Amino acid sequence: MAEYHLGCPICGFRVENEVILNKCPKCYSPLDFFFDEEYLKNVVFRGPLTFWRYEKILPKVSKIISLGEGGTALHRADRLGEILRLKNFYLKDETRNPTNSFKDRAASLIVSDAYSKGFDSIICATNGNQGAALAAYCAKIDISCHLLVPKALDMGKLAQMIVYDAQIEEAGETIEEAIIKAEKREKETRWYQATAELNPLSVEASKTLSMEVMEQLTVPDWIVVAMGSGATIHAIWKGFIELNRMGLTDKKPRLIGVQAEGCAPIVEAHIKNDLEPMQYVKSATTAVAIKVSSPIYGKIALKDIRNSKGIAVSISDEEMLKSEKEVAKREGIFAEPASAATIACLKPLMDQGIIEKNDIVVSLITSSGLKTDDILKTIHKHKKLTGIGFNLATKEKLLKRIQRSQTYGYDLWKSVGKGMTVGAIYQHLTDLEKRGLITSFAEGKRRYLRLTDKGERVLQALEDLHNLL
Ligand SMILES: [Zn+2]
Repeated sequence: MAEYHLGCPICGFRVENEVILNKCPKCYSPLDFFFDEEYLKNVVFRGPLTFWRYEKILPKVSKIISLGEGGTALHRADRLGEILRLKNFYLKDETRNPTNSFKDRAASLIVSDAYSKGFDSIICATNGNQGAALAAYCAKIDISCHLLVPKALDMGKLAQMIVYDAQIEEAGETIEEAIIKAEKREKETRWYQATAELNPLSVEASKTLSMEVMEQLTVPDWIVVAMGSGATIHAIWKGFIELNRMGLTDKKPRLIGVQAEGCAPIVEAHIKNDLEPMQYVKSATTAVAIKVSSPIYGKIALKDIRNSKGIAVSISDEEMLKSEKEVAKREGIFAEPASAATIACLKPLMDQGIIEKNDIVVSLITSSGLKTDDILKTIHKHKKLTGIGFNLATKEKLLKRIQRSQTYGYDLWKSVGKGMTVGAIYQHLTDLEKRGLITSFAEGKRRYLRLTDKGERVLQALEDLHNLL
């Protein structure tokens, strides 16, 4: 008896053979892996708290490609809890992952699967985190990573894709257009399909978040998840269902799904008691990570929220950004706007008496704020006032000068160091050497400087970024 099979979570269709399918052939829903009930009862988690501790409840791979993902901190957030009047408030901090988002879990599993099946190229439509994560894991094993990205893309995520050496192609205005192109490209090239919405391993990987939260704390009363395609909230629910089936708990959390007001197809359907998400013609939010106007997992997410006796709410971009600053100032976590939405939505729910002050609440912080554009704008605004950002520009100038021709500290000060002390230039050079971007060698009385391979790559990535901006 197989330990698991692929099937449709909406109509129950069961995939009998090992064929690769992206969707249910009957109802076009995304597919899920279903684990055998008897098998689940006998699973024991082994090893330290990392993503691969949960290997036994993941589809099998023959080789694991890992950068140290998972096992992220679950912080008790007392200072934020105080403002919200919540006594048991926690943040699951997925910014701690190798590329600073929860997508590293999916990237580790998907790239391991692609490698195990003998693929040398993958294709993925992505609006950011999934692509940045896949690019890093592909780099580790030398698989060629092809990313199709929509125009609206956070610069920090694009910078990661560039540095990790992915092949990047712009594919339309929205993520939906990019997904259609990725399906087409897969058929033409026979590359491995790594798009989150088209590969059920993404949900499998994200469900380990539920396992971690339960092992780190307990099954919370509420778990708050930002919704784009709806895949993540589905994964969280699937995780808790499997924990129930494994006999490790008989409690399930209630789900709170959050979307941005300018793009809330799942929330609007939930409020109207519809079974399917509304179709959005135009969406508007700065939270690019959850800007999805026709969510592929929407129908499944709506079903999960209902089954959990949960709720779906939308909040404004303004509240999200306010919350982003609040969580940074009060808890020391720099979350992206979509993640901050999982905190911003709690106050109204407290005011309405839906959440009670002693309830255990976990908000899922999926990705770092360092990757998003709003933060670049904030830095840009402050730069003129405080000189922030000046150091980066100086370092880039130094790297460029070192790349051009043989030079040394004093020479650099003369050509680049206008208005700076010699000491400040040497401090920059020490920093650059510590980061492995330059190296130095003695010749006569002088120490000459040279760019390392890493230095060359970083400089190239910075130039690519300038060209894009
Ligand atoms: Zn189906």
